[in-house]
Amino acid sequence: MAYQTVSPTTGEEIARYSTHDADEIDERLNWAMEAFKDHRDRTYNARAERLETVADLLEKRAREYGELMTREMGKPIDQAVSEAEKCAWVCRYYAQHAESFLADEPEETPAKRSFVAYEPLGPIFAVMPWNFPFWQAFRCAAPALMAGNVVLLKHASNVQGCADAMEDLFKEAGFENHEFQVVRPARKHVSDIIQDRRVRGSALTGSVAAGSAIGREAGDAIKPSVLELGGSDPFIVLDDADLDRAVDIGVTARMQNNGQSCIAAKRFILHSSIAKEFTRRFISAVEDLKVGDPMDDMTDIGPMAREDLRDTVHDQVERAIRDGAVAEAGGHSVDRDGFFYKPTVLTEVERGTVAFDEEIFGPVASLIVAEDAREAVDLANDTRFGLGASIFTEDREKGERLARRVEAGCVFVNEMVKSDPRLPFGGVKDSGYGRELSRHGIREFVNAKTIWVE
Ligand code: NDP
Repeated sequence: MAYQTVSPTTGEEIARYSTHDADEIDERLNWAMEAFKDHRDRTYNARAERLETVADLLEKRAREYGELMTREMGKPIDQAVSEAEKCAWVCRYYAQHAESFLADEPEETPAKRSFVAYEPLGPIFAVMPWNFPFWQAFRCAAPALMAGNVVLLKHASNVQGCADAMEDLFKEAGFENHEFQVVRPARKHVSDIIQDRRVRGSALTGSVAAGSAIGREAGDAIKPSVLELGGSDPFIVLDDADLDRAVDIGVTARMQNNGQSCIAAKRFILHSSIAKEFTRRFISAVEDLKVGDPMDDMTDIGPMAREDLRDTVHDQVERAIRDGAVAEAGGHSVDRDGFFYKPTVLTEVERGTVAFDEEIFGPVASLIVAEDAREAVDLANDTRFGLGASIFTEDREKGERLARRVEAGCVFVNEMVKSDPRLPFGGVKDSGYGRELSRHGIREFVNAKTIWVE
């Protein structure tokens, strides 16, 4: 099957791309090996210079790349432009810090000299999703390239224009020898790539099902993998929270990117004493959101990325209502072309129901009431996922104490969950394993080599 991009705003096809057959894949793997042989010997400065040029170009063309993302997957244009700018940030961050993160680490032993050297592994296979079509790929590629690895990107079918634009951008910035290249395998060839002796590691951001498939293949081939999967992040609001702030941030945390983010706040866990007031204000703020053309700067919510994703969300909402939830806002598609879904608020959500247990990857908030902070944390942890969490309280010490008890890769007190190049990003439980970003991310695909000199 060919890769196809479809405008989520109109439902019309944008382009088709043919898949690479076995010979074309083989050719690309050879290019990757050739590229690695040169790139691994480049100094950190030479790598950094190129990555800084990538950052310059991203900043210069943020609008152009933003429009491409919006056209292919429907995020509001201002968020798409910010995404391109954030990619420049991660490039600069690793350009400036990779050398110190991977510097030799001397260790006192009986040897004359003993130390740990961090060396690149080789070609890394990156399977990436459509929701942050530039960011997810850059979050993987910037540290990989600075570590001396090279990258083969298999991007989601519906954002192939973004994939090609990134490949061109890396080339133009001086990664001319396929250090970052796009590969378009048919699904049946994905496992051949992971198993191929030239590929030394795999990274996937996407669903639990895809993560499980890639992780299984990588394990079978005895190769490292990093999996960044779904989440059902709790957003806890305690009785002493600043409600204005919690509502404002809560709406953004749930609805940004048209509700399609792994770290979106999905389960709002509200202390019973503020639940009513929070719910009233939250519904009113959600109803004020402007749904429309994502190319329009005034739009808050664009279409969902694909028709099947919109249908899945609607099916979940219907099942949630059958489970006893009440749709206080939204609960249906928008009557126009494209894959629009009305921002939805579900109240009276209980443990063991669809809106509590399943990840809803769209503009749908589940509101849950807790008697006290202890029950709130208990509810927060009662999920198969463990990506991020937020806690709103004016008692920051208590916030920190509770943060340590939440089972997640990151907890933000009085703030929404965000990824930041300076801090590790990743999950526990079914949200995956391994870390991206910060000094932790760059060490996922390196050989921590012991060198002992007697
Ligand atoms: P997928 O996980 O199916 O897609 C993500 C990437 O993995 C795409 O490049 C996809 O390719 C690829 N892929 C999927 N299955 C396999 C497989 N078995 N072997 C190899 N590659 C695979 O996500 P969807 O787009 O279908 O979205 C479904 C759900 O996934 C969402 O509702 C959400 O729950 C979750 N998701 C999570 C994301 C996150 O940020 N953690 C991002 C996107 C989705 P292709 O596009 O060609 O199918």
